Amino acid sequence: MKKSLLCLVLTENTLERNIELIQHYQNYIDIVELRADFLTDREMQYIKRFPALVDMPVILTLRRQADGGKFQGSEAERRNLLKKSIVKAFSYLDLESDFRDTEFEADVKRLGIRIIRSFHDFNGVPGNITKRIKDMAREQGVLPKAAVMPKSSKDLFRLLRCFKKLTHIEKIIVGMGEYGLPTRILSNYLGSFLSYCSKNKNLAAPGNKNPEEMVKLYGFHKIDSTTKIYGIIGNPIMHSFSPLIHNKGFKALEYNGVYIPFLVDKVKQFFKTAKLLNIRGLSVTIPHKQAVIRFLSTQHTHISKIKACNTIIRKADGYYGENTDVYGFLKPLKNYFGDPLKQNIKATVIGAGGAARAVVYGLREHNAHVLILNRTLKKARQLAQAFNCEWGGLDKDGIKRIRNYSDLIVQTTSVGMEPHVEKNPIASYRFKGHEIVYDLIYNPPLTKILEKALNNGCKVINGEEMLLAQAGAQFQLFTGSNYFFPQSSMYDILHSG
Ligand code: NAP
Repeated sequence: MKKSLLCLVLTENTLERNIELIQHYQNYIDIVELRADFLTDREMQYIKRFPALVDMPVILTLRRQADGGKFQGSEAERRNLLKKSIVKAFSYLDLESDFRDTEFEADVKRLGIRIIRSFHDFNGVPGNITKRIKDMAREQGVLPKAAVMPKSSKDLFRLLRCFKKLTHIEKIIVGMGEYGLPTRILSNYLGSFLSYCSKNKNLAAPGNKNPEEMVKLYGFHKIDSTTKIYGIIGNPIMHSFSPLIHNKGFKALEYNGVYIPFLVDKVKQFFKTAKLLNIRGLSVTIPHKQAVIRFLSTQHTHISKIKACNTIIRKADGYYGENTDVYGFLKPLKNYFGDPLKQNIKATVIGAGGAARAVVYGLREHNAHVLILNRTLKKARQLAQAFNCEWGGLDKDGIKRIRNYSDLIVQTTSVGMEPHVEKNPIASYRFKGHEIVYDLIYNPPLTKILEKALNNGCKVINGEEMLLAQAGAQFQLFTGSNYFFPQSSMYDILHSG
């Protein structure tokens, strides 16, 4: 089968601006779709001139509002405009599955233009999608297309199964939105004739990525049926830096892998997808770190103590679970407390959520004396009892007790994270200057608590080092390589080419 093409959807309102867009992205794309419904009325008069001005194949589309387009005229007006605009220089014409004009379509075919017969569903993945594509494919020379909106992990699985059932048919299948993103990145792996991308994220179709991201970050054109698939599951997930880290690592090693964000609502459903795509490894983030455990066949011994798994590897006998947060958390501490950490550190852990469990486990493994302070007392108590620690509330009395556990203060709550950067969960605490203050948050790099600690002479560590260290350990589990950007800061990883 032919390699999947990357199609830039042109949504500017003039032909000239669309040409500028093509020039800007020409190194990444193979084909463009002129969404003529985005043009001004005046520009619509000149549609037929467009393909001759462009050095790549052009799809002409004049989408009506019912199918997510912007064309406001009547159906007769739309038909007339299409008839007036179609010229030989167009390569494809996208017509909706209910559009029928035998004479016009015969003329289009005579011009050597291929018709894409499409249907759209913004409400989910229709139950009869496979049959509808098969029916459309029966029409001689037509390229069938379905653009649908998976709204859950179950929908994504159903859509992927549809791909599998239609491997022998040339077709375009696009999963829109965040749940659908994997289908757009894996277009070649799954066997879609093309995949779409656009400059503006949600203008052309919800969730579209821009061409640079598709090619440079995800290696769109390099993905084929032998590519090993990895990813991160969470909800929400699109903010994650992990695709940047792992895909850069794959690229540097010339490893034939791709790492994709999967929005997941139901872990059980997602594991069906993991099997279908033969996913080799996964990072797991909020809120699924606990829920994945029951789907593991084997696991590192610390998983049952931490009760959280952030890394999954596919092995011959099923899925193996690890928690690299512990390693990631401890790594930067070794610069301050030695390796192994010196005994009898007195530490305060702010928070008692998933990340705190890995932190407390790591500290207790090194015999640190730990005080846990949390907004919800019950959770502080439960975590403290599991690891034999002191506990208290995140209130005046609790904060007063920090001075007895102040070699190290670890902030593990989400307080102070973007966009609430003014917040400090222990605002009343007075730093003495000897404390090492470690905030797991990496965005912003300097949280209020770290800023205050720094101003009082303390040493500070932010979440960036932990993020990279835990990702580096994952990368090693995924690929066997210890390549891990040892000298890089997050900035370099995010911004180097
Ligand atoms: P989680 O399981 O949802 O736990 C959240 C914690 O924050 C709980 O202790 C919660 O207290 C507390 N909290 C939330 N809102 C609060 C508020 N307004 N006031 C006081 N406490 C509040 O989340 P998690 O997985 O532990 O993650 C927590 C943070 O760690 C996030 O910012 C995450 O990005 C960061 N993290 C960083 C890394 C890294 O590599 N750097 C790794 C993992 C996590 P209650 O129990 O009272 O709700």
